[in-house]
Amino acid sequence: MAEKIYMKEDGHLHVPHHPIIPFIEGDGIGPDIWKAGVRVFDAVVEKAYQGERKIEWLEVLAGEKAYNMTGSWMPDETMQAFKDYLISIKGPLTTPVGGGIRSLNVALRQELDLYVCLRPVKYFEGVPSPMWHPEKVNMVIFRENTEDIYAGIEFMTGTKEADKMLKFLVEEMGVKNIRFPETTSFGIKPVSREGSERLIRSAIEYAVEHRMPSVTIVHKGNIMKFTEGAFKNWGYELAEREFGDKVYTWNQWEATKKESGEAVANEEMKVAGIGGRVIIKDAIADNFLQQALLAPQDYSVIATLNLNGDYISDALAAQVGGIGIAPGANINYKTGHAVFEATHGTAPRFANTNTMNPSSVILSGVMMLEYMGWNDAAELITHAVGKAIKNKKVTIDFHKLMEGATLLKTNEFADEIIRNL
Ligand code: NAD
Repeated sequence: MAEKIYMKEDGHLHVPHHPIIPFIEGDGIGPDIWKAGVRVFDAVVEKAYQGERKIEWLEVLAGEKAYNMTGSWMPDETMQAFKDYLISIKGPLTTPVGGGIRSLNVALRQELDLYVCLRPVKYFEGVPSPMWHPEKVNMVIFRENTEDIYAGIEFMTGTKEADKMLKFLVEEMGVKNIRFPETTSFGIKPVSREGSERLIRSAIEYAVEHRMPSVTIVHKGNIMKFTEGAFKNWGYELAEREFGDKVYTWNQWEATKKESGEAVANEEMKVAGIGGRVIIKDAIADNFLQQALLAPQDYSVIATLNLNGDYISDALAAQVGGIGIAPGANINYKTGHAVFEATHGTAPRFANTNTMNPSSVILSGVMMLEYMGWNDAAELITHAVGKAIKNKKVTIDFHKLMEGATLLKTNEFADEIIRNL
């Protein structure tokens, strides 16, 4: 009998053998890629668990399809289903233009307090990439999803609010360096200790659990000391306080260096690394973007703030040629709520052409299966997608960039993956 997934009192998920999982097929190319994806998911679960497990899919509406059928872009039942069933998966949604909801994705993130935007960045052999050695890129980005300049606290110049803000800053706070007060708009950047800690804690837990070598806290703390600088400091403090000898921090390295010299500090860090402790370090965002190109092998799990994370996610995805196939998830590890999603948009020009690459939604399904603890099924898909690409059996986006490749339609690419399972 189909059952709900729920969070047990011990903070672990209970995943029944027949879980109900809501899905939104998405707008534009959504239906094409979802149809391909769901066939792969059903086939892999059957293959991995021989009929003992099966996902019961529950369609819920959002976006244009929902608007056309119900008059609402995000019906209450959809939000309720996402709350009740904990784990869900979605295709891309059209962002309504003008008025009402700013973005359906943002609404989901806020309503479910999905504070981690998780983006794994991994190279599949054969994917066209601008890098010489894209295989050296293997990172997992934890982007803070609820705070920062993205909180939407903005005041347009010329409005009453902006005038009030200006007056407050100048007259009450003694601010002197607003260069053009008459024409200035304002944006506020809230960054809290709680918000930073829950994100960084999740990143370190992930690194420990997956035996990843390091967590790098990426920030602009040299300029924005009380927001991004505090994010870094809170991160180091949390690592030492909560993770003890599971981690080795750059702060510890510096303390040893001061006391006993650099050679001893280096040896200490080496021993920690060999011993399986996660190295906690930090990088200033601009330098990180350079280093991610020059020495990607030095970075593993990345923990960063909302805006940095936005840039970094796309920049790293591009390194492995993955902008069209990069998967993503938005997660609240405390409540267990998680929405897995294709990271590209609806590409409306290509709707119903059965030509687009379904890999993004398929690989987000892999993340979902891992999150559910169905790792055998997840591994089978990853391997099968890798094999299809290695054999140059690909959809149009890769076909354009690969010599001697076989062009497949969206549904044929799904067939190829299912054959490879
Ligand atoms: P887009 O990602 O839809 O398309 C840009 C281009 O990328 C396409 O023209 C196509 O050439 C390529 N592309 C995208 N997905 C592909 C795939 N699966 N296979 C092969 N090629 C692919 O971005 P856009 O045109 O800026 O946005 C279109 C709509 O999507 C907008 O309404 C936007 O708001 C929305 N959007 C939604 C999400 C989401 O729901 N997560 C994300 C981004 C954009």
